[in-house]
This record gives sequence, C-alpha cells and structure tokens, in this order.
Amino acid sequence: MALVPLAPETRNLIAGELAPASNGNTFDNVNPSTEEVIGTTADGTKDDMLAAVAAARRAFDETDWANDVAFRARCVRQLYEGLVAEKEQLRSIVVHEAGAPVSLTSYMHIDEPIEMMAYWAEKAASYRYETRMGNIRFLGREQGRLLRREPVGVVGAITPWNVPVYLNIAKLGPALASGCTIVLKPAPDTPWSATHLGRIVAERTDIPAGVVNIVASSDHLTGEILSSDPRIDLVTFTGSTATGRRIMECASATLKKIFLELGGKSANIVLDDADFAATLPFAAMTCVHGGQGCAITTRLLLPRSRYDEGLAIVEQGFRNWNYGDPTDPANLQGPQISRRQQQRVLGYIEKGKREGARLVVGGGVPARLTKGWFVEPTLFADVDPDSTIAQEEIFGPVLCVIPYEDDDDAVRIANHSVYGLSGAVSAASEERALAVARRIRTGTLSVNGNQWFSADTPFGGYKQSGLGRENGEQGFEEYLETKVIGVPPQRS
Ligand code: NAD
Repeated sequence: MALVPLAPETRNLIAGELAPASNGNTFDNVNPSTEEVIGTTADGTKDDMLAAVAAARRAFDETDWANDVAFRARCVRQLYEGLVAEKEQLRSIVVHEAGAPVSLTSYMHIDEPIEMMAYWAEKAASYRYETRMGNIRFLGREQGRLLRREPVGVVGAITPWNVPVYLNIAKLGPALASGCTIVLKPAPDTPWSATHLGRIVAERTDIPAGVVNIVASSDHLTGEILSSDPRIDLVTFTGSTATGRRIMECASATLKKIFLELGGKSANIVLDDADFAATLPFAAMTCVHGGQGCAITTRLLLPRSRYDEGLAIVEQGFRNWNYGDPTDPANLQGPQISRRQQQRVLGYIEKGKREGARLVVGGGVPARLTKGWFVEPTLFADVDPDSTIAQEEIFGPVLCVIPYEDDDDAVRIANHSVYGLSGAVSAASEERALAVARRIRTGTLSVNGNQWFSADTPFGGYKQSGLGRENGEQGFEEYLETKVIGVPPQRS
C-alpha cells in the first residue's frame, strides 16, 4: 500500500487557533523504524496548557455547546467527514511516527477507528438525555421525577503512543458527542496523531473555538495540569498503571471523576480438547505491533497433557512470523516505539532467562535490521506463573507459555494477576469455552477466536487494569452527570 507524503499539522490547537508554543520551542519527532527525525512539533508549555484549560472552561460555561444537541451532533458528523477526507494522511502519520505496520492500519489504527466517529455523531443525536421516572409517594403525596443526563463539563484527556489515532478518537468522540469540552494531551512519541486532528477540527468543522484544545509537549508533566487543575471535571487516561495511580492521586484534591484504561497481562487459555492446529498458529499474534497493545494476550496456558504438541505448533508460528519494515504489508510487527522501550523489553527478556524460563525463539535484537528499535519475536516456555515475566506487563513481542493441570488450574493461573483486561479461551465446544470464560475476571474475552472490538462494545478492565469503560453506551455515560428533578406527577 503506497503511503502519501507526510504533511502533518505540527502546531497545537488552543482556543480555536493553530499556534506554535508560547516560547517558540519545538521537539523532534523520530521514526522508530529508521531512527530518523521526520519533523518537529510545537513543544507546548505549562502556560499553553493553562490557556487551553481556560479556553475549554469558557467554551463549556459561556457557549451553548453543552445544550445544543442538534448542533453538536452535526459538528461531530463534520469531524467524521474530515477524518475520512484526511484518512491517508493519518495513515502515513501513524506508520511513520508510531511504527505501526501498514497492514494493521485498516483494523486497529485508522479505518475502523474513523468509522467510530460516525457512531459518536449518531449517539449524540439519538441518546435520550431526559426521561420520566415513575411516580413516587412522599409524605403522603404523589410526585414525579425527571431524570436528566448532562455533560460532565471540561474533560482532560491523556493518551499514549501505541494506538494514538484510535485512542485520540476514542476520547474526542464521546466527549464531544456528550456536550463536554476537551483538552487533549498526546504522548510526546506520537504528537502528530493528535495535532493533525486539531487541524481537521479547526479547518473542517464548525466546532466552536475552545471546545477542542490539543496540546502536545515533550514534558510528561504538562499532563499533570489536567489531573490537578480545579477547572477540569473529568480526566480520561489511557497508559501505564503507574501513571494511572499518579493521576488518581492528583485528581483526589479536587475529587475529579476519572476514567482509567491501563495495562494488562491477558491469558489465552487453550483447553485440552481444543483444535490445536486451528488455534495455536495464531498464538504468535502476541507480537502484533511489537506487542504494544494493552489487550493483547501475553500468557498462553497449555494443558500439561498436550503441552509438547501445543508448544511445537506455537514455535512454528513464531518461526514463520513476518516482522520488520512497517511499510511492508507482509509485516504485522514493526519496531518498539523508542530505544527506551526496546531496552525495557530486552531487560524483561533477560529477567525471564534469569528466573528460569526456557527461551525457545528470539530473545534479542534482530541482526538483519540494523536501524530501528526492533526486538525479535520471543517465545518463552515453562514459565513460572509467579515469575516477573508472567506477572508484569512487558509491552513487547514476548509470549510466556505456562502449563496447567486441569480447567480449575487454568482459571486459577489466568486470574492470578493484578490485571484483568482481556483474554481468550478455546475448546472443542462453545459451551465448555464459555463456562471457563465466565470465570475469568477480565473486562473482555474472546471465545474460539471470536472478537469483540467495536464502537458499541464497552471496553475496560477489572482490578488494576482500570476504572470505567470506553466506547459503547456505557462509555458515553462516563462523560455524563446524572440529575434528578422532583416534578408534578404524571397522570396516566
Ligand atoms: P505513560 O503512562 O507514562 O504515558 C502515557 C501518557 O501519560 C503520555 O501522554 C504521557 O506524557 C502522560 N503522562 C506521563 N506522566 C504523567 C503524569 N504524571 N501526569 C499526567 N500525564 C502523564 O506510558 P509510557 O511511559 O509512554 O509507557 C510505559 C508503559 O506504559 C509501557 O511500557 C506499557 O506497559 C504501558 N502502556 C500501556 C498502554 C495501554 O494502552 N494500556 C499504552 C501505552 C503504554
């Protein structure tokens, strides 16, 4: 697939203006597969962030954005059409700055996420913001109740670098559809996946000034203004569990609502009667996009009774796996996002070896790729479920195979994690797989290869994988407050 030449917006969007940083500074954007600087981005300052927060507050408090449902539904529709018009530029951006394999852009990064904005436009228009509840008797008198859902206010959105266009859309869509205003701070590794959306908002929609603000910055702590400033009502965050904890801490002073989508260590449970030949070649999908996805399954649980047979198929899948240049459509795995992440993944691999896991495939930097932050697809067998690589999120192309004795043991090992984001179960019958899936404490699961990802699927985690749900009606309602008004009773 030919990519269009890069022509990204590199300025921030603050109070309706596409603007350089207030001090004029920029920071480099580096392509992780070539290590080359591909351009620069306005390096938003704390003053820029404060100006963005003030603009979002004014737009919420002083304009009709929160109340005019028909207008905002039309604006979100315009944003969808703008995204469609700029689709190829966004594809080029995500391949170049995130190292996303081009063949994954249709599903994970660009085409499917853009369609999600159409869902949000429709949701804005069709949602019932006001409903009558039944009458009640209070102090001997019959009374009615009106239930209203209103936008929560000003949203601070903080996003990571792994699926940046999708995640920015997943924050902007429901925030705008619900009538909130927003300040979005992207990860410094993937700034254009956000700043280019700023240009689309400014040039292709009637969204009023201040409703959407986008502030890229090389300084992670610029984001802390969003979790601590009293003018922000809700913080929506996707990223690491450590940063999620810090956001909760900062948000506690002003008791902000928070939505957190954090890490995972999801288990793929293959039951002893599953069709191994149909299922296990796909176990190498752990390495998709360098394993940089929170819902990817990174622990493979194989029954001890068929362990060697299963492991041999998985090993073959890893040996046949295509990875390398993300612009080559044959590859489903590109580089890690940065040298820091590459070194972090390699550190985990060393720890796995030290803690006694058996390295079957990979384990290092591929010799044939002399540029870029690549890590070999790596397969560990005989992994102790208590070991570091079985417990911590590696965020790399590393699969840990763990043997289990029976279904109860598989469920116990799968649930033995501080995380609870996703997972998979395979068995000869749907009933048997479902029975196990019901016992797994995670927010999403796939049974016999059936996927769940869609705009109307609520996505999120149990335990330390997060708080709240993104997408779907439940995700929309994260952005709404609830108000009940006592009113005269309804007469039937
Ligand atoms: P991170 O959590 O540090 O960064 C995510 C976002 O939070 C970025 O925009 C960053 O600038 C911002 N941020 C950082 N510190 C902040 C603070 N104190 N207040 C407000 N915002 C802050 O993630 P990372 O360092 O980019 O990656 C580290 C690890 O996070 C990865 O190895 C992976 O395990 C995990 N991760 C998970 C996901 C996910 O989807 N669950 C996504 C990316 C990374």
